[in-house]
Amino acid sequence: MNNFTFHNPTKIIFGEGSLSQLGQEAAKHSNKALIVYGGGSVKRTGLYDKVVAQLKEHHIETFELGGIEPNPRLATVRKGIEIIRSNGIGFILAVGGGSVIDASKAIAAGVPYEGDVWDFLTRQAKPTSAVPLGTVLTLSATGSEMNGGAVITNWEENRKLSFGSIYTFPKFSILDPTLTFTVPADQTAYGSVDMMTHVFEQYFSHTTDTPLQERLCESIMRTIVDNAPIAIAKPDDYAARANLMLCGTYALNGGMISVGVQGDWASHGIEHELSAIYDIPHGAGLSIVYPNWMKHVYRERIERFVQFAVRVWDVDPSGKTDDEIAMAGIQATREFFTRIGAPATLTEVGIGDDRLKEMADKAVHFGPLGSFKKLTSEDVEQIYRLSL
Ligand code: NAP
Ligand code: FE
Repeated sequence: MNNFTFHNPTKIIFGEGSLSQLGQEAAKHSNKALIVYGGGSVKRTGLYDKVVAQLKEHHIETFELGGIEPNPRLATVRKGIEIIRSNGIGFILAVGGGSVIDASKAIAAGVPYEGDVWDFLTRQAKPTSAVPLGTVLTLSATGSEMNGGAVITNWEENRKLSFGSIYTFPKFSILDPTLTFTVPADQTAYGSVDMMTHVFEQYFSHTTDTPLQERLCESIMRTIVDNAPIAIAKPDDYAARANLMLCGTYALNGGMISVGVQGDWASHGIEHELSAIYDIPHGAGLSIVYPNWMKHVYRERIERFVQFAVRVWDVDPSGKTDDEIAMAGIQATREFFTRIGAPATLTEVGIGDDRLKEMADKAVHFGPLGSFKKLTSEDVEQIYRLSL
């Protein structure tokens, strides 16, 4: 196990009815709030009105920025920064999924920064402060509700990059599973894939002597496998939605399951290039790419893939070689993604082979990708080809 510092400052307020605590939490930060939301689901479900009522009740003046895109865009982030600066707003409330929360984090860090917020994404600058933000989560997937990371797309340059900072952890996140009852089956599947792969990114590691972290990862993976199909078949199943919500939040919150472990994150980089050009949902891209990353790298540490197959997928190891066991685990992963309705090939989502080399080169822009196996541009291109 490696040395580590784990500091997660986000307050989680979980459960049915937890929205009633929004006003009092928000009022701790400012009497002017920017409500950030997406393409309209929060208005259709009535959540928007409830949020505004809570803030008004606590004498908070509200401003709004709607229309955050899935795969949120830099141009929209810049709009938010402008609204906050010109109105002296002191608090951001993100109401939505990962896209809305990520855009809100970039706005939060961009406001006090003199340069262009894109500098944080290109690693030319680091945030040194941020406007405080809170979230009301409506989709279980990214873990953005309890971490400091954000992924932003510069659509003009077809680049999708991430940054993270201690300043952009939400001050609080309201996690009411009933707010996810309206998430459609496809987005429920993509969200489940995303959280599952967040665990993968931290589980497939060369770090040794980490039995607790491994078992935590395995239990989250098994919980997702059990609950995603239920939430898809019965969208208002409270227990399934609550379990998925907790899995998403635990899977990526700055270290709870992975303290002292060197993570990988190559597949996320590989996926971001797909979304940056083709604007596909993040979880759909991961569903396509991840099992192919697994096939490409599993021999680097086959025993971890054997453990994965046996403990997560109940593969019976008797009479099989390590290679067969590992491959059975990878196959089970693919079958699970397919069973919940996530795509398996680039072809299925309308992506051909014409820009694979370009994406592979961009993916290694900051150097070789990942740590389980350090991937070159050639490796990444092979994984894209396997994914066709
Ligand atoms: P999302 O892009 O926030 O939302 C996807 C879709 O679901 C939107 O069309 C949204 O509609 C809809 N939706 C959300 N909540 C709903 C509800 N309760 N009922 C009905 N529809 C609902 O999805 P996401 O997977 O949470 O976020 C994806 C983004 O997060 C990607 O850009 C990805 O790269 C990034 N990401 C971030 C992290 C991180 O740690 N920060 C980690 C992984 C991925 P509306 O727009 O109409 O609301
Ligand atoms: Fe992700």
